[in-house]
Parts: sequence; C-alpha cells; structure tokens
Amino acid sequence: MYDSFNRKINYLRISVTDRCNFRCTYCMPEEGVPLMSHHDILSFDEIVELTRLAVSKGIDKVRITGGEPLVRKGIVSLVKMLADIDGIKDLSMTTNGALLPKFAYDLKNAGLNRVNISLDAMDSQRFSEITRSGNLDEVLKGIDSADEAGLLPIKLNCVIKENSLEKDALAVKAFAEKRGFQVRFIHEMSLADGSFSVVEGGEGGHCGICNRLRLSADGQLFPCLFSDIGYSIRELGGEEALNLALKNKPKSGTTSVGHEFYNIGG
Ligand code: SAM
Ligand code: SF4
Repeated sequence: MYDSFNRKINYLRISVTDRCNFRCTYCMPEEGVPLMSHHDILSFDEIVELTRLAVSKGIDKVRITGGEPLVRKGIVSLVKMLADIDGIKDLSMTTNGALLPKFAYDLKNAGLNRVNISLDAMDSQRFSEITRSGNLDEVLKGIDSADEAGLLPIKLNCVIKENSLEKDALAVKAFAEKRGFQVRFIHEMSLADGSFSVVEGGEGGHCGICNRLRLSADGQLFPCLFSDIGYSIRELGGEEALNLALKNKPKSGTTSVGHEFYNIGG
C-alpha cells in the first residue's frame, strides 16, 4: 500500500502493552505512568485481525514493542498467532531484554525471527541509573539467551544524549563489535518538543522514506510517531482506520503531545 506521498508502507509496529518493568529516565517518570485500563487493551484476536488485514494490503514487516512486550501475559502465544499469518517476511521484537532468559527459546519456537535489545551502558552503576530498576547482568544474560536461541541478527538500541562518542555509547559499541551485533544509536528525543533526529545505523527519522504505521496497545493506528493523528480500530473498524492512516500520513513529523515512547513503542 502507498500513502498520499507515494511512500510504500510495508512496516507495522505493534505496541502490546504500556506497562514496563524498567523506568528509563528518558522514557517514563520514576513513579510510573497512569496505565491504560484492561478493557482498553486490545485482545490478541483484535491485534491479529488488524495485522492480517494490514498484511493483505502489503505489510510484510512486523515489530512487537511496548512498554515492555515481554510483560504482556501470554506474549509467546501472540507471537505464534502473528507468525502463523501468511505474508510476514520479518517478525521482530524490541525489548529491554531482562526477561529474555525466560522467553528467548519459546519466542524462537513460536516463530519470532529476531530481537532488538535496548542497551545504553556497559557499567552496572550507569545502567541502573538510566533504567532506574534495571539490572545489567540480567540484560546481558538475556542477550546471551537470544543469541543461543538464534533470534538473529541481534541489534542493540542505544540511546545517546549528544553523539555516539559518549563514554557509554563507546562501551556499547565495543561490546557489540566483540560479539558481532549491530548497534543503532538513537538520539534522545522529546516528542512534545518535536526534537527528533535520524537513527545512526537505522532507518528511523527519515520522513521521506518512512514506511511505517504504528498500532498502540489500546487500538489507535498512528501514521506518524511525531504527530497526534490517530484512528481507533475499535471505533472505525480496521479497514477504515487503515485507509485513513494511509491517506493522512503526514509528509513529515512535527510534534506530538499525545505520544510517549512507552505508549507508542518507539
Ligand atoms: N521496552 C522495550 C525497550 O526498551 O526496548 C520496547 C519499547 S521502548 C519504548 C522502544 C525503544 O524506544 C527503546 O529502544 C528505547 O530506548 C527507545 N526510547 C524510549 N524513549 C526514548 C526517547 N525519549 N528518545 C529516544 N528513544 C527512546
Ligand atoms: Fe521500559 Fe523500554 Fe521505556 Fe525503558 S525504554 S522504560 S524499557 S518501555
């Protein structure tokens, strides 16, 4: 499918929860956030139905994100349901990695192809400061589990303040090189200020070639991370929400006061 600027849209990012076991400083306040109520959260059947429809129209790349996708109850079953849809060439997940020791093999067996794991520092103290409740050793074990389970290629997401020559970023880069992982440096953004920039080592932030749509955990279809335009699949139905999201996908992003990374998934 093509949007009104003739960009081919083939990538759907699905946020499956707004909950998280970390409280990264750039993403969530320490006390957490007001959570979506349970009945607002899409069921697995609703997520799969929308995805199937989107795939029938040309989506062939799907990423599961959050909040932290691995805290969603039954996540392995959802992965299996999505993997069973004919036409998805690339099924991936973005995760903070802490729960991968528990889930990596099951995710692989359910049909997940690969993972992006967020890793901002290699120093335990720094890692705990940034994530507030995260433990570096657990995440490193999670990375090992993903590697052993074959969730490859593993890509590391590293949020940077200024540039990729910062101490923490250099340490993550050295780790990635040693282990043969790719690393993407993401500038810390503020969606409300419209301060967004391109991702070093990734495709994000280039509006001209943007191929994405996003589905929030409560069923809003968002054509752009940096805009508040969104269409409820429950209110409009999947077909109409998809059509409107395509038709009204902005040429480039500006600002978003309604989106936060924990509710739209990055
Ligand atoms: N919880 C999972 C994780 O952290 O990988 C998935 C969801 S998280 C919102 C997705 C990505 O968004 C992570 O790589 C995270 O580092 C990034 N992110 C969160 N807040 C950000 C911000 N303010 N600026 C840039 N990236 C951000
Ligand atoms: Fe949680 Fe990911 Fe946000 Fe960190 S970036 S608080 S791990 S959702």
